[in-house]
Amino acid sequence: QAGELGGEQMGTVIAHYGSQLDIEPADQPDTLYRCHLRANLPPLVTGDRVIWRAGSDLSGVVVAVQERDSELCRPDSRGQLKPVAANIDYIVQVIAPLPTPHPNLIDRYLVAAEAVGIEPVILFNKIDLLNDSNRDHFDQLLDRYQSIGYRVIHASTHSSTGLEEIKGLLKGHTSVFVGQSGVGKSSLINALLPGVDIRVGALSEQTGKGTHTTTAARLFHFPAGGNLIDSPGIREFGLGHIDQATLIEGFREFRPFLGYCRFRDCQHEQEPGCALLEALAEGKISQKRLDSYRHILSGN
Ligand code: GDP
Ligand code: ZN
Repeated sequence: QAGELGGEQMGTVIAHYGSQLDIEPADQPDTLYRCHLRANLPPLVTGDRVIWRAGSDLSGVVVAVQERDSELCRPDSRGQLKPVAANIDYIVQVIAPLPTPHPNLIDRYLVAAEAVGIEPVILFNKIDLLNDSNRDHFDQLLDRYQSIGYRVIHASTHSSTGLEEIKGLLKGHTSVFVGQSGVGKSSLINALLPGVDIRVGALSEQTGKGTHTTTAARLFHFPAGGNLIDSPGIREFGLGHIDQATLIEGFREFRPFLGYCRFRDCQHEQEPGCALLEALAEGKISQKRLDSYRHILSGN
């Protein structure tokens, strides 16, 4: 099917359409080869780094895949977690004064990112909406995250604030943008990817074999450097079911104290000798974050 095959080369999965993949050669940016997957390979996802061989007419065949540094999973129609994107460096969590972040939502996203070992970044968008009545609230909220080591960027797509800082951060990395509807993810992506239509419909492609449409993830290059992997599903990436150990470890500033409670099965409620409660009393962790942990644990 792929005609005459060339030699093996490196490439990246840019998108996939059923059993076919768009591969971008490492040494030929922005050229896409529609490839088949050799039968012995596992399913691939956007962001995978592959070894492939070119055929005729921008076709080819993928012969091997490199081990993933990280992967993002989403539940499929049967609730099974399936990888949807690979080799992501940053989960950029977009929040805004409006819509006001749901209680615990920021922590849920952070825990989800920590659980998959991808660095979260908090992007506080719409800072043009800050005023004397809400500024202190958001300053305190974001200080809490900065003080435990999370990067926080202030931005506004309306006043073009913070965009250079975002470009600097994203350069040389592969990122996804997540966050609740209405916080400005599309606006930010449009500002960072001028001229690219990132709506779902734009992922339809006209080929000799007909039109292929996908709502699966696609990789884009930022003109200023770095990559974005985006899809409607990825934007809604969040905290699915998670066990208690993974949940508490997702609160990164709790980690130094875990394992030091007097009782092995300590629930960190009011047990004597609880290392977490001692850390709280000493001001080393915040009451808000501990409340948030308890809240998420209780399933609310
Ligand atoms: P998404 O649902 O997260 O993709 O959010 P959108 O990008 O669609 O933005 C939702 C609304 O917020 C739109 O009406 C935008 O014009 C508006 N918006 C986006 N960025 C800003 C900003 O920096 N400041 C203000 N005031 N509004 C913004
Ligand atoms: Zn404890």
